[in-house]
Amino acid sequence: MREFALIEHIRRRFGRTGPSVVRGIGDDAAVLTPPPGRQLVMTTDLLTEGVHFDRQTASLEEIGYKAAIANLSDLAAMGARPDYVLVSLACPSDCATPDILRLYRGMADACRPYRVALVGGDTSASRSGLFLSLTVTGSVPIGKALLRSGARPGDRLYVTGTLGDALAGLQVLGKKRRASSLRLSSAARRVLIERHRRPIAHPRLGQMLSGHRLASAAIDLSDGLSGDLRHLCEQSRVGVELDAAALPMSPALRAYARSSGTDPITLALQGGEDYELLFTVPPSKERVLLRMAQRTGRRLTRIGLIKPARFGRQIKDVTGRLRRLPNTSYEHFRSSGVK
Ligand code: ADP
Ligand code: MG
Repeated sequence: MREFALIEHIRRRFGRTGPSVVRGIGDDAAVLTPPPGRQLVMTTDLLTEGVHFDRQTASLEEIGYKAAIANLSDLAAMGARPDYVLVSLACPSDCATPDILRLYRGMADACRPYRVALVGGDTSASRSGLFLSLTVTGSVPIGKALLRSGARPGDRLYVTGTLGDALAGLQVLGKKRRASSLRLSSAARRVLIERHRRPIAHPRLGQMLSGHRLASAAIDLSDGLSGDLRHLCEQSRVGVELDAAALPMSPALRAYARSSGTDPITLALQGGEDYELLFTVPPSKERVLLRMAQRTGRRLTRIGLIKPARFGRQIKDVTGRLRRLPNTSYEHFRSSGVK
């Protein structure tokens, strides 16, 4: 299929128009009516074959799905409602039209629950590997965006869901390929692999936190708790006491840690791509937060306390001893030589 035919196909299958989309795919640019009383929040993410994904081990649906989730999760961490998406592609010659449509199917799966409309993009050939870039725009009520910089000493540190599952899932897949014997039930394997392949973003929870001004700061967990907590603390100019015994872990993660001889706390601290929300709550807002969490059936766990900057970032281990929080998170440039 030629480029124009492909774009027309994408428009018919995946393009969405709504009351606020004056013009979507098909013109020189999209025309959208800004939501009254709200500020725009925009995020973009570039995925490069060989750096962020591998077409040998991940399906195109999965690549598209995860690209969308990474962006939706960034908006969730800002407390924003996701609205529109633009998709830019550079396709190598071995990537045919059905492959591209698989990418879009994955993206559409991730966007569907939030009714995010595809309103445009750009298409190019690539001489080396597949490139996929998504730009997602969203909006928040004026002045209500959740920043990384709002945490204050005395605030409580909370996290959604469970930690480390996506990393454990990735390791389970790797071990399966090497055919080593991992004594882990197939149910636990399935849970962890699913968390790696189909992570979930939390835009509705993010909007609840911003809309009711429950959180003072927030970040999404894409690089791992330890590294992302560091970003939040540095931008807020605060320290933190993290409670190792409180870190929420799934039964599957604990089983995996036991069977592989890995420390579950390390998995929880370093595991990337969980896309859970990490946020701080002033003590005066804690009761309302917990009531709302209960009503919506969301798992929220208090995992620490914000301290003055001079305290630094420390973790209280299960014996009650404090030690410095390790600075570990995944950085792509470290391995590619880009400084
Ligand atoms: P231009 O030459 O101005 O870049 P294009 O022919 O690339 O125009 O794009 C025509 C229309 O198709 C635009 O509305 C653009 O947003 C949309 N579009 C192009 N590529 C994609 C894509 N990969 N996914 C979604 N929309 C696309
Ligand atoms: Mg173009």
